Amino acid sequence: MNRRAKISAAKAERKQQKIEAGLVSELFPKVAEIAISMVYSQTGALEPLSRKINFFPGSSAVFRINCLCSECVEGGFDFTQIISAVVGARKTAAQGKISCERCSAPECSDVEYTITVKYAA
Ligand SMILES: [Zn+2]
Ligand SMILES: [Zn+2]
Repeated sequence: MNRRAKISAAKAERKQQKIEAGLVSELFPKVAEIAISMVYSQTGALEPLSRKINFFPGSSAVFRINCLCSECVEGGFDFTQIISAVVGARKTAAQGKISCERCSAPECSDVEYTITVKYAA
């Protein structure tokens, strides 16, 4: 498959995943907001790159964040199990490290994340 075909296949797959995943409110009815912060410590870069993604009850329950690399169209960071564990334990925060599923580029491995969860009263 060429790059273009790969990207559209990956997009179609993600669209399908979103439909199947349903909404955050269906999966985690008591959750008001989930925030994922990620810090990429890029080699050679002075400032680490950071990314923040928020999920609300009306968001699709797809906790998968695409990889930064332009080469890596199918890779990403899957927070599904981590978030399920956090919400299952009713924790409000969790921290750790995660790596891209597909690539071993230094900026995509050992990405530090912080998850914060707010619950509806
Ligand atoms: Zn990468
Ligand atoms: Zn990657």
